[in-house]
Amino acid sequence: MAFLDLKNLRKSFGALTVVKDFSLSVEAGEFVSLLGPSGCGKTTVLRMVAGFETPSSGAIEIADQDVTRVKANARNIGMVFQAYALFPNLTVAQNVAFGLKVKGMKRAETDARVAEMLKLIGLPDLGGRYPFQLSGGQQQRVALARALAPRPRVLLLDEPLSALDAKIRVSLRAEIREIQRELGITTIFVTHDQEEALSMSDRIVVMNGGVAEQVGVPFEIYNRPATRFVANFVGTLNTFQARIDDADRSVVSLAGVPLTLPGGGLDGRAGDSLAIALRPEALHLGRYDGCEAVLPATIEDVHFMGSIIRLRIDIAGTRVALDTFNRVDQPPPTVGSSIEVSLSPR
Ligand code: ATP
Repeated sequence: MAFLDLKNLRKSFGALTVVKDFSLSVEAGEFVSLLGPSGCGKTTVLRMVAGFETPSSGAIEIADQDVTRVKANARNIGMVFQAYALFPNLTVAQNVAFGLKVKGMKRAETDARVAEMLKLIGLPDLGGRYPFQLSGGQQQRVALARALAPRPRVLLLDEPLSALDAKIRVSLRAEIREIQRELGITTIFVTHDQEEALSMSDRIVVMNGGVAEQVGVPFEIYNRPATRFVANFVGTLNTFQARIDDADRSVVSLAGVPLTLPGGGLDGRAGDSLAIALRPEALHLGRYDGCEAVLPATIEDVHFMGSIIRLRIDIAGTRVALDTFNRVDQPPPTVGSSIEVSLSPR
């Protein structure tokens, strides 16, 4: 059953409608990401849930209670922002205690809760420090502790990792998820970083122009994108122009090579062109048993990324990306060499 229910939310600023008929049901304890390009309305949705913006129409329910008109401070929601919004003149412990003081919690209980929160974020001994004495990653963990201290019903995270170094960003992803799971707190996470969304979320909402283009688990979003926008926005996409040879039998020709696609028939006629989209890992270096088509290609660029090697290759004038695993006993192919690429129609 949905714990947080967003029903047909709309938000306009003057003549500009930035969120259009947005609906989403989030289950208790679920971690849902809003993913989309800059300006698609992610933050506006989050701010409506927080109570910082009033929807132009639609409703927000938490645990079956309509909170659409409830003031932000009465919603019992925790929020973490992109910029470290810690109070610079307060210590870490005072920052974490802030929301508890506002609620009028007694001193002993507050101290116990602060200690519990600092332990939760892995900084049990830093309560006496000031924000300027912390790294960016530590500051964001304190911001998380401060948001969680009053035991909110819902946690909202607005790009909390985007100001951090790449390495800390990746380790904090796992930490945030661990803490979220441990507390079982219903969470909405806003990001424009697809890797972050794919690696952290139970479900992802891909937004575009104020609407949800697709809602699904990361596996579905990546492997079964519902629209061209989702396919392009999430992950790397190779697009080939192909031609239908036999629509009934789903045979197309790609770079002059026949390929039988799965499924029962194509919507079109022989000679029609169509686009075929493939992820870089769907192309295989060399000849594979059971692969439908083998295409000649030239290597234009080699990016050694560690566990993965991404090749930029040219197949009959189409430039595409191919991912292959690093193999310790086999150096990567060199730029300019001719190779064969196998395709599995699946
Ligand atoms: P980003 O990733 O850049 O933060 P976003 O997807 O979170 O983008 P929003 O911040 O929700 O996007 O903004 C969506 C649109 O609404 C933008 O065009 C923005 O300029 C506009 N907008 C947001 N807040 C206001 C406001 N208070 N007044 C007028 N326009 C606004």
